[in-house]
Amino acid sequence: MILIENVAVATVDAADTCYGDGHAVVGDDGRIVAVGPGHAGRFHRSVRRVDGTGCLLTPGLVNTHHHLYQWATRGLALDETLFGWLTTLYPIWGRLDAEIVGAAAAAGLGWLALSGCTTTMDHHYVFPRDGGDVLAAEIEAARQIGLRFHPTRGSMDLGRKDGGLPPDNVVEDTDEALAATEAAIDRWHDPSPAAMLRIAVAPCSPFSVTSKLMSDSALLARRKGVRLHTHLAETGDEEEFCRERFGCTPVEYAERLGWLGDDVWLAHGVHLNESAIARLGATGTGVAHCPSSNARLGAGAAPVRQLLDRAVPVGLGVDGAASQEVSHLGAELRQALYTARTRGGPSALTAREALRLGTMGGARCLGRQDDLGSLEVGKLADVVLWRLDGLGHDGIDDKVAALVFGPPAPVELALVGGKPVVERGELVGADAENLARQARRARRRLLKAAR
Ligand SMILES: [Zn+2]
Repeated sequence: MILIENVAVATVDAADTCYGDGHAVVGDDGRIVAVGPGHAGRFHRSVRRVDGTGCLLTPGLVNTHHHLYQWATRGLALDETLFGWLTTLYPIWGRLDAEIVGAAAAAGLGWLALSGCTTTMDHHYVFPRDGGDVLAAEIEAARQIGLRFHPTRGSMDLGRKDGGLPPDNVVEDTDEALAATEAAIDRWHDPSPAAMLRIAVAPCSPFSVTSKLMSDSALLARRKGVRLHTHLAETGDEEEFCRERFGCTPVEYAERLGWLGDDVWLAHGVHLNESAIARLGATGTGVAHCPSSNARLGAGAAPVRQLLDRAVPVGLGVDGAASQEVSHLGAELRQALYTARTRGGPSALTAREALRLGTMGGARCLGRQDDLGSLEVGKLADVVLWRLDGLGHDGIDDKVAALVFGPPAPVELALVGGKPVVERGELVGADAENLARQARRARRRLLKAAR
């Protein structure tokens, strides 16, 4: 058991309950057995006691959009639009293999853990023919770092010769992609409430996937009872592509293919009109909001206030490290707040709403709201203890405001299912310098192969 006390607590429960001085207790089954104000009662057995003085306890952050392999191609195509950036990087990504993806994923996952993330998805959609088992490689990396992991089996089958954006040698055959996706679900997906590993189905985007693969993917996911994810409404270029090719907006296109529903979450949702926002709300379709990536690529700013007002489940995503080199989920809380306020003024998003996006909102996107996303008795003990008594946060009395408005806070302790993955700002399952070294080696090999 672990007892955390003398700590400020933001539970992110339905009433947004906070305690200025409170406690939380984690049971041996990896779930929360108590959370409340003041001290916990006495325990007549061995407990690890953690003194949270100067810290804030929150639910662990949930990352709803990422491409871990992109850690190997950070800092390239720095001044491009999405389409320019993609066409620069596709040929490099065509040389990925399992070893490179494993090293990049371990680095990306380690960095995420240090940024307060306890659950992440990954969207992997590049499967070179002779690249080995890249999905297995990133799953192994997640086990090493200790994060709860929702990798998606992505896919692309619309190459340049058929009017798509990617070169023909990085896309797959439609039926092969579907068969590989089904095999990944059969091999890895764990539907149990405490699952550390779940698979979702994730064809890449309207401009890299055929309508057939989109609609067959939806059928497959529903037959298997897993969730659906894709990029949608990210840029003006994508909107133009959809209007020219399909005669409709991206959200209308998604609806036509069976892609709206409460088992779907979409990355970005930047270019949405009123009726699109209403359809997302009415169908319970989630949105992975990636404000830093959208800013880096100059794609625009998602209408988060309007999405929340229509009851759309909204989570936060760092997106791939090649389109958002910071890749820090804790920092994304502030970026979400700033982005909403740049669009809609200072009342467009509060610090508590930003924290809710990063926790409960993310859990809803991944379909884990019954077990993750808030600090409540019976929920899984995925928690983060943020250190807020250093120079960067000192003097901000409201701890949630300090976390969101202040600089990225050091993680004193992060637990996943009650197991420590970060202690005093250091990874438990890996050495950060070693992760960087392995990733550097992988990157060198990748860039050399692509020359
Ligand atoms: Zn993405």
